[in-house]
Amino acid sequence: MDKQAQILAFASETFDVAGANGNILILGLETRPDRDIDAFATDGKQYCFIGFRKHFAPKIKATIEQINALGHRAKQLRYSGNVNMKRLAIVAGLGAWGKNSMVLHPRFGTRLRFGALELDITLSTEVHDERTIFAGCANCDACIRACPLNLLRPFALTEKEKCQAYLDLDDPTKTQRCDLCQIACPH
Ligand code: SF4
Ligand code: SF4
Repeated sequence: MDKQAQILAFASETFDVAGANGNILILGLETRPDRDIDAFATDGKQYCFIGFRKHFAPKIKATIEQINALGHRAKQLRYSGNVNMKRLAIVAGLGAWGKNSMVLHPRFGTRLRFGALELDITLSTEVHDERTIFAGCANCDACIRACPLNLLRPFALTEKEKCQAYLDLDDPTKTQRCDLCQIACPH
């Protein structure tokens, strides 16, 4: 087995899904009641993504160590204006756009959360269409109807800053996530 295959095999064993696009390794883990990756805390000034730290970060660390052991380097890509994790996941073949603007996966629905590593080695030259749409959305609009703020248009979240998927820093007592567009999804 070549090094690329070894890296992908380790990532697939460590995470629920793994895929690659060029030298970017995309890693996906399902959030669920016994493994709440979305869990966060706040002091009213900044977020602490405790779910990601607890469940995702150790697996990222183990994957980087495995890559290093094979003689290669990897650094974690952080969410930013230049890094669209959902687009990277779709290009790597790990899902398709849902009408709720999330990545939908045939087995894990909307529940995958993603991380990415940039390596010094090309893992795959296969590129999936970044506009791929989830087939199950064709005759459904449950997520759009579920949004209490009417923020969803098919495959797009308008006025992202109004979305209550994240805690409102102006109201630190608000500790409930919305997530209604995910809860409504039958997948
Ligand atoms: S998380 Fe809630 S507010 Fe945000 S788009 Fe989904 S349903 Fe709307
Ligand atoms: S609720 Fe329906 S339309 Fe929305 S993402 Fe799920 S399957 Fe697609």
